[in-house]
Amino acid sequence: MAVAEQEALSRDRGSQPLWVWLMVLTAHAGRCVYCDEKPSETLEHEAPLASEAGRDIWWNLVPACDRCNGWKSKKSATRWAADMKLHHDHPKVGFVRNALPLHAVEGIKNRIAQVQREIQDAARRTWFERHYGHMSTPRLRREKHEEVARCTRALTRFPYPPWESPEARHSEKHCMRILCCGYHQKGSRVEFFTLPQADHEDLERMAYAKGLWIGDLLGALLKPAIEEWRQSQAAGDDEDSLRSA
Ligand SMILES: [Zn+2]
Ligand SMILES: [Zn+2]
Repeated sequence: MAVAEQEALSRDRGSQPLWVWLMVLTAHAGRCVYCDEKPSETLEHEAPLASEAGRDIWWNLVPACDRCNGWKSKKSATRWAADMKLHHDHPKVGFVRNALPLHAVEGIKNRIAQVQREIQDAARRTWFERHYGHMSTPRLRREKHEEVARCTRALTRFPYPPWESPEARHSEKHCMRILCCGYHQKGSRVEFFTLPQADHEDLERMAYAKGLWIGDLLGALLKPAIEEWRQSQAAGDDEDSLRSA
């Protein structure tokens, strides 16, 4: 491959849209797929760009920490893991300068297969694209990492990954996952609540009997209480202003 062509490809990595960064760096629970220990910091090409298979598109990307990314360098993951294995067997020969612990090396192949399944999951990918596809990609790496942290926090609010919940109805354009946006009304947002298990089960039956989604039912139940509180606040304000007049 010509040098100029290679440069164009590596520039490409920097220009991966934000949603691809988020989709890849939040995979594998946010950890580097190679050492399985440090938080992921970069999009790593499982097959290096210089190789025939190393196309710079999402299915070739895995989450990695900067250290592993540097150590792996231009090798393929398989080659790098094999070299590190040799290094553990014959430390004096110098197959690699730095190596991960043997237990981490031995798990690399399985972890890559696992993370690639996760990244290639169509429902997950669509969820990221629909939620973050409209956002512009920050120029600085630090800013990208801030977005990853924000996205990770947002995901912890869901009891399970939102892309695994069914769609309220199918849409070619919008997220319709029940857990996420499926029942969003314009100007509304999803809240979470705690309820003892027995009450929760009855609430589910109640919602089913009324033909409502639990979220909508709770919203409807809460609204009068909020309205009442609002009026009591307003009445309190009136009294205050009378007193001060
Ligand atoms: Zn690592
Ligand atoms: Zn959504």
